[in-house]
Amino acid sequence: MEYATLNDGNRMPMLGFGVFQVPDPAQCEQAVTWALEAGYRLLDTAAAYMNEEAVGRAIAQSGIAREDLFVTTKLWTQDQGYDAAKRAVDVSLVKLGLDYLDLYLIHQPVGDYYGSWRAMEELHREGVLRSIGVSNFRPDRLQDLVDHNDVVPAVNQVEINPRFQQVKAVPFMESLGVRPEAWGPFAEGNHDIFHNPALTEIAKAHGKGVGQVILRWQLQRGVVAIPKSVHKERIEENFDIFDFELTDDDMDRIAALDRGHSEIVNHDDPAFIHMIGTMKIHD
Ligand code: NDP
Repeated sequence: MEYATLNDGNRMPMLGFGVFQVPDPAQCEQAVTWALEAGYRLLDTAAAYMNEEAVGRAIAQSGIAREDLFVTTKLWTQDQGYDAAKRAVDVSLVKLGLDYLDLYLIHQPVGDYYGSWRAMEELHREGVLRSIGVSNFRPDRLQDLVDHNDVVPAVNQVEINPRFQQVKAVPFMESLGVRPEAWGPFAEGNHDIFHNPALTEIAKAHGKGVGQVILRWQLQRGVVAIPKSVHKERIEENFDIFDFELTDDDMDRIAALDRGHSEIVNHDDPAFIHMIGTMKIHD
């Protein structure tokens, strides 16, 4: 495993396992169990994924020492604000069966996320949240948060994949000391990405799979990746990326695949902002 050292001194695995869109508890628990058996130690869930309990059960049954795991969950928009964020952390800890989180992220930059951030800064100082960060923050929101608070986010988890490479945002985050983390590292499997001709050629040349090439590309850009799969063989394949290196030419060929914008979400669309800002995940 390769590790990133975050701006607060904590170490984060460069490759982890995501569980978005795995709402079935048994399937989620099984997938996380396979991931832990395969060697993943970074797990990425969220209150809004409705599967923190299943992730917690897989952790408890794994027998892996707590200090060897790196568990991330996220604050949903419904719980934005100082008091609500503190309550939401407690709820996530209970569901996960943990007494601290390695990384806690503001899931979306909508609502009173400044109040949330101040609560998170306090819990960070108390050691309940080892590292704190954000998700889906574009450069302007990130700059504003940094300018008006004490703690610089350790991580910003945003969509990054060969079709949306965030070529300006990634170096900008790095200039602030914020580690970029890729959600949707495979573009959620859309656009037939696993059969992209350039990626297939590169994969063949290295005797690897397209998914492995994409994950290797993320790591070589300094981006933490958290691929999701519910299939054992894919979970194992996605972890097997530490025995090869992409060349500069490979990296250039992948750079040419960038479309420059998301094909999954649109944070410019008021209807999308309204949808995520009013979606309820609890009473
Ligand atoms: P990914 O880009 O990881 O793609 C997942 C898709 O790829 C699934 O359909 C999966 O299918 C398929 N797949 C995985 N591995 C392979 C493989 N080796 N070969 C062929 N197909 C494969 O999408 P996600 O949206 O899940 O992103 C990853 C994680 O990022 C999430 O699980 C979540 O933790 C996080 N995330 C965060 C967001 C945020 O707003 N902060 C938003 C979205 C995601 P199958 O499962 O059937 O194998």
